[in-house]
Amino acid sequence: MTFDYDLFVIGGGSGGVRAARIAAGEHGARVGLAEESRMGGTCVIRGCVPKKLMIFASQATQMAEEMRGYGWSAAESGHFDWHLFREKLDEELNRLERAYGANAEKAGVEIFHQRARLVDHHTVELADGTRKTAKHILIAVGGRPSKIGIPGEELGLISDDLFLLDELPRRALLIGGGFIACEFATILNGLGVGTVQAYRGDAVLRGFDREAREMATLQLQSIGVDLRLGVSPTRLERDAGRIVAHFDDGNADHFDAVFFATGRDPYTSDLGLENTGVRLRDNGAIEVDEWSQSSVPSIFAVGDVTDRVNLTPVAIREGHAFADTVFGAKARKVSHEPVASAVYLRPCELGTIGLTEEQARKRGPVDVYSAVFRPMRSMFAGSDARTMMKLLVDPESDKVLGCHIFGPEAGEMIQLVGIPITMGCTKADFDATMAVHPTAAEELVTMRHPARRYPADDN
Ligand code: NDP
Repeated sequence: MTFDYDLFVIGGGSGGVRAARIAAGEHGARVGLAEESRMGGTCVIRGCVPKKLMIFASQATQMAEEMRGYGWSAAESGHFDWHLFREKLDEELNRLERAYGANAEKAGVEIFHQRARLVDHHTVELADGTRKTAKHILIAVGGRPSKIGIPGEELGLISDDLFLLDELPRRALLIGGGFIACEFATILNGLGVGTVQAYRGDAVLRGFDREAREMATLQLQSIGVDLRLGVSPTRLERDAGRIVAHFDDGNADHFDAVFFATGRDPYTSDLGLENTGVRLRDNGAIEVDEWSQSSVPSIFAVGDVTDRVNLTPVAIREGHAFADTVFGAKARKVSHEPVASAVYLRPCELGTIGLTEEQARKRGPVDVYSAVFRPMRSMFAGSDARTMMKLLVDPESDKVLGCHIFGPEAGEMIQLVGIPITMGCTKADFDATMAVHPTAAEELVTMRHPARRYPADDN
């Protein structure tokens, strides 16, 4: 049987575009790609990129305050011009969108700016009714923000909407305590929006190292976010142009905007998957094996739609490995462990790789090297902000099982620490590394004695 393409990719985000470019540009495959929205996907258009730019924009007040601590009497952040920022942001996202499309086309990928649905194991139908056949189909459609099923939730916004606001709200509610809620709370608070964050747990960022979670929780409160723990909204109502949120502790409060940051679902609805027999997991994610192959041999899936590790660099690796394996005769799997990541808070970020202290304790004996201190830069300015450097070490093999950094530029630091840890380094390797002085990160190579050991010595 002859096909229109060797590969048809559904989704023009990070994973889909990488797979398409490698398959066409490096391995000579005939590749088509359909994208219903903007090329670049969640990360580029409504996620990591605009979010990080907003994090940068949001730190002026804190930086001005820090500089006052260094003697700058006139250092003030001044007025933030949302319209100017939005205009520049739109230009930048347009530039990136064009680059994504142009680079794919340069590699030989034919792009269709339409929604595609599966018709059978080798056929997709585009929104205009045309059908394309392909020997292989790659589903890389990502995920979509999910709400929590409370009355009136249609009045609430999702993360995509932050980047499209005509005006900044005067007072906003963020629901959730994950990556997005904490980063958005930091941004809105920094831009001068009265920010309330309602989270049902007792410390934000569930799943991260507990000590780091507590520091992140404290930081959100200390920068001025009204963080309400152990609280969830039960209903939203409109009231004279504002929104009233009712909470399960009996309180109610008025806001100009309410954002749900309560997780994301794989975007598999109405994709025609029922025509193929592709197996889904209970949460709607496409079930794939270690080669990103679905239960139908001609259909593969990468990125958030598979709900493995939902991060852009992982989707890119999965897309690249798929293209090399299927079209380049270079069989490659992606290791999903360990994966470093960062939560972009201010002034301290959280960078993390490997096991948390809690996970390491469950695994077996562990030595915890942890230094919590006031870094020179902010201490001099009179701030109480604390930084944490933590290494979790297997006392038998000396292997470093995890690293957690809470501090300025922790995202940059964890990227570098991720290299030796991915290589399987030991604590002795850290000890043998000369310190760079004066830095905050030098603590990583100067911690001589565990702060605690499990099981404890006296047990
Ligand atoms: P997360 O899964 O991180 O957080 C969801 C939050 O919503 C949790 O605090 C959760 O509470 C809460 N929640 C879920 N359901 C309910 C409910 N019914 N009632 C009340 N609260 C609820 O999702 P996000 O939306 O923050 O982020 C989505 C994904 O985007 C992440 O998985 C991450 O991979 C990615 N991302 C990565 C970033 C980065 O790398 N810096 C930045 C932003 C996003 P609980 O903890 O109790 O379950």
